[in-house]
Amino acid sequence: MITRFSKTFLIAVFALFLLGSLALLHPPSRTYVDTWTGDFFGEGGFIPPSPQQGVRGKVIMPKLGNATAKAELGRATWKLMHTMTLRFPEEPTQDERDALTNYFHLTSRLYPCGECAAEFQLLLKKYPPQTSSRRAAATWLCYLHNQVNHRLGKPEFDCANLDATYDCGCGDEPLGSSTGGSANDPMDLERDPSKDKKAQGLVKGGRAAVS
Ligand SMILES: Cc1cc2nc3c(=O)[nH]c(=O)nc-3n(C[C@H](O)[C@H](O)[C@H](O)COP(=O)(O)OP(=O)(O)OC[C@H]3O[C@@H](n4cnc5c(N)ncnc54)[C@H](O)[C@@H]3O)c2cc1C
Repeated sequence: MITRFSKTFLIAVFALFLLGSLALLHPPSRTYVDTWTGDFFGEGGFIPPSPQQGVRGKVIMPKLGNATAKAELGRATWKLMHTMTLRFPEEPTQDERDALTNYFHLTSRLYPCGECAAEFQLLLKKYPPQTSSRRAAATWLCYLHNQVNHRLGKPEFDCANLDATYDCGCGDEPLGSSTGGSANDPMDLERDPSKDKKAQGLVKGGRAAVS
């Protein structure tokens, strides 16, 4: 004969088993980084880092002592990098993925604040760039920025607000689309081939090469 305690115990075990099975059947529905392991999870579960990983080469730039310059540079760089990941292709090719990975690795060498670059290199080693999709790249960078925020004693940013914060209003115009650019833009070479010579002069170093 089963006692009431055993009955309750069995029901509890069964309920836990059911919950566990449900969790396994439904992989995580949001993109996130596991704070303990640094592993990256997308909609289909664990996403392995891109094969081309590891920072190659040491920091090139010297220390940047000026705190104001450091903060201004930081704000501008974060803006550039977040906007970049939020405009990255939804389904990138391997070449596009490698380009983004290389970009971050090169930034970690060439970033004009040497001590920031050294910290960035450590972060990249711990959390290699995630480039499997736009969402993965944007969430990864947001997480990385939060790591820097944490180290500098700044508040954590809610990565759910990424799209609203970095909405540049630029849309997703395909490259070479005829609707972009202005007829008066002197650098718009696609539009007016007669301007080619002038622009080539500019590219050669800014001295007038046109008679
Ligand atoms: C790669 C890198 C490394 C750096 N390392 C150092 C360092 O070692 N020492 C140092 O003193 N400074 C460092 N900086 C600069 C520092 O991160 C800040 O940019 C700077 O202190 C100015 O801070 P801020 O409070 O104006 O906001 P920032 O951190 O510059 O952020 C700018 C804006 O981005 C938004 N934001 C904040 N967090 C996130 C997030 N997680 N995701 C998306 N958007 C966000 C907010 O709207 C915020 O106002 C580094 C910058 C970069 C790019």
